[in-house]
Amino acid sequence: MCRQQRGRALPAGAARAEQHLQLRLGRGPGLCRLSPMPGGAARAGCTTPLASDSASSPWPEPSPARRRGPTFPLRNLPVEVSCPPRALVQVPPVAGELTSSWSRRLALGYGMPVQDLVRGVISRPEGTRITGAARSGRELYLNGPARAAFARFSGIPLNELAARLPGFAFSHERLEEDAVARAAWWAPRKAWVAACPPCSGRSWSRHQPVLVYPEAAGHVCQRHHRWLLANCQQASAIDLRPLPEVLLAHRRHAALVRSHPEARAVMKLAAAAVWSWQVQGWQQKAGWHSPTSLLASLTGCAPSAVAAHTLIAYPDTVTVARLLADQSWQARLRETATASGTPAATQVLLEEVGRRTRRLWLGDWMAACSRAGSRPGVGAGNVLEQWVARLSGADGAGHRAGEGLWAVPRPARRPVGYGERTSYLIESSSREANEEAGRAFLTGGWEPT
Ligand SMILES: [Zn+2]
Repeated sequence: MCRQQRGRALPAGAARAEQHLQLRLGRGPGLCRLSPMPGGAARAGCTTPLASDSASSPWPEPSPARRRGPTFPLRNLPVEVSCPPRALVQVPPVAGELTSSWSRRLALGYGMPVQDLVRGVISRPEGTRITGAARSGRELYLNGPARAAFARFSGIPLNELAARLPGFAFSHERLEEDAVARAAWWAPRKAWVAACPPCSGRSWSRHQPVLVYPEAAGHVCQRHHRWLLANCQQASAIDLRPLPEVLLAHRRHAALVRSHPEARAVMKLAAAAVWSWQVQGWQQKAGWHSPTSLLASLTGCAPSAVAAHTLIAYPDTVTVARLLADQSWQARLRETATASGTPAATQVLLEEVGRRTRRLWLGDWMAACSRAGSRPGVGAGNVLEQWVARLSGADGAGHRAGEGLWAVPRPARRPVGYGERTSYLIESSSREANEEAGRAFLTGGWEPT
């Protein structure tokens, strides 16, 4: 924690912040006058100047009165002890934020490297261990003692931190739970995005974006018409104003999430169905070409670089998902499958998808694709036909009350990796396209999984 241990000199601002951190943790040289509180409890009125580095902090300074804390008349001689002042830098976590993002914003408030802040916060006599480097895009995982230390340090109750920070709620299975405070910088286990700056309010800083887990449908800001991207350096987003169909699809998607308990699984199955159309050459069809060109122009990338982005298939995926989740349509498909067989019911379903997506040729086109056989390497067959077979019980598995209904066979799954998707969708080498997409922050972020 100290400068000698790190073997390098800290800038003046960071040194002051480090002193503040020590004060806050009650380990520093700051001397406080311990005053008796009513009822016998002790309360400290710190006499050390505690102004934080306002030049490097985007957060408002606590008022001088708040920094000093309340003072009470002394009934005894003043006793000088080290004590932690409260709330030097107030950095409340944003709902759904990555713990690493919150700790980076805390460190920024103190003008110090985040690894130094973590080490200082969780340091304890029983021992401290930090695994991994604090690289951008990683999540910070903490075991029990380390989580408790962060709660003490921030003055925010543990349960409140756990409610706001999904990565904080549980320990990582690789982190040992013992008396040693342990922290580790590992890859996030879920997709994340940079939060919309205007919606982040006072938490936003041009030095450190707020990174959040979008969960089921938090990847679009309806207020500011943005598709949020996974850029850990600064907030990046795709402007959705020229793409009203994406905004409409998101509203419908959010409604599906609110109303259907298995909305994620439904979206995953719908994404697999649309993916099977993509790999069978949908981009060559008129009407499915324009979203690719538009996204290319919005991002300044070549069409080959954006071809695999989730946004392009998103409206169709939501349309299919809503149809599959519609119970009246499920009943109709069951009846048709019982009366005329699964292929006939699938054809009815495809015609309805074609009608809703304004692609009336979809049913005939899919039938032609089925006759020609699936593209090698895809192995999906007809995802929707398999689903109709499960729905109607024609597969003989006897699914009860939706159990297993939304399962996607492994060969039919839409690849999560951007590079893998690109390799299916473009004729030329995908390496250059993927690199270009990576530079535009298109390769990460929310996926229908
Ligand atoms: Zn917004």
